[in-house]
This record gives sequence, C-alpha cells and structure tokens, in this order.
Amino acid sequence: MFNCRCWGLGSPVAIYLAASGVGKITICDFDIVDLSNLQRQIIHEEKSIGLNKAESAKIALTRINSDINVVAIKKQLNIDEVKSIAEGVDIIVDCSDNFETRYALNKIAFDLKCPLVSGAAIKFDGQVSIFDFRTNNSPCYNCLFPSNDEEQNLKCSDHGVFSPLVGLVGSIQAGEVIKVLLDIGTTLHGKLLLINHRDIDFKILKIQKDKHCEICS
Ligand SMILES: [Zn+2]
Repeated sequence: MFNCRCWGLGSPVAIYLAASGVGKITICDFDIVDLSNLQRQIIHEEKSIGLNKAESAKIALTRINSDINVVAIKKQLNIDEVKSIAEGVDIIVDCSDNFETRYALNKIAFDLKCPLVSGAAIKFDGQVSIFDFRTNNSPCYNCLFPSNDEEQNLKCSDHGVFSPLVGLVGSIQAGEVIKVLLDIGTTLHGKLLLINHRDIDFKILKIQKDKHCEICS
C-alpha cells in the first residue's frame, strides 16, 4: 500500500483504510501542515500545524487503529525511491496534486503490474478510476491523459477545491481499494467516474486503451 502527497484526497483514503484494518499503509510527504490546509485536509488538526504532514497523518491513523503499521516517509522521493517502496505493495493509491507524480505512479504501477487507484478533485469537479495492471489489456492513466498533451497543471492549492468533494472522491477511492483487496464487487477498472458536486452530476465513461500509448502499448 502506498500513498503520496495531497491530503485533501489522502485524508479520507488513509482514515478509511486505517479504520478498516488495512495492515500496512505507507505515506509520503515532505510538506509541513499549514493553517490553510485544514479546510480540506481533515486528517490534520490545529495542533498539527508545523508538523511534517506524513508524521501528522501517522499520529492520527495510529490513534484510529493502533494495530496497523503506518510507515511515514518525510522527504521528497526520486522515482527510483518511489519504485523501490512500491515493490511488493498490493495496491497504489494516487492522491497527488500534480501531473508529474501521476505519470510517475502510472509508469511504476504498470511496470510492477500493480493496481493503481487514481483520484483527482479541483474546484467542484472530481474523478476516480482504477487501472488494474494485473490484467494484460488494462488502459493506463497516460491513455486517458497523454503526457505529451499541453495539459494545464491545475492544483487545488492554487485553484481551490470544494472541501466536501475531496471527502467524496477520497471515500470512493478507499472503497475501490478495499474491494480490490477483498476481490469483491465491480470496480471502476477501465472506467472513469466523473463527479460535478455543485450540480450533483455523476457520469461513468469507458476508457479506451490507446494502441499508441507510450507507456502501456
Ligand atoms: Zn496507456
């Protein structure tokens, strides 16, 4: 289990996985908790301000469930370090706030044949998907959003996010993780859930595998 940056989504994901008894959760963040984070990063509290975010999250998760093993990595990682941490995990959850991390996690998950649960939220719009690389014909994040596109790198820290939306997206991500771990139900594998929270609009689109994708084809 591996999680990375952006505690808007990471908070509900980590809280539900810890409460559900997921045995080992590895969290990575080099950033420090700031007052401006507390509106959406609900794992942190006022007295966490000034603490490293991974450390603050570890304290909160251990309070919820003292039987699980929470590993907090408090530095910025290069791609080889991320890959070595991700080796041997059952599932990777992308809760990041930038495309560079998203593409890196997609490549690592594809190389390791590890399921990747991807989530994003900005303003009133959210999305969730699973790329289950245990199957040979899974599309990948790069099929959906090719890295050679001139995509604007929107961040919730720059553009704002409706704070309950990150709870909604993160809860769905946590649910997808638990379903994959328990092998139950129907997941969002090969599908993209789009949410508009302002108008309560939910859509599920099928993701086509790109035959020319530079990562998975
Ligand atoms: Zn692809």
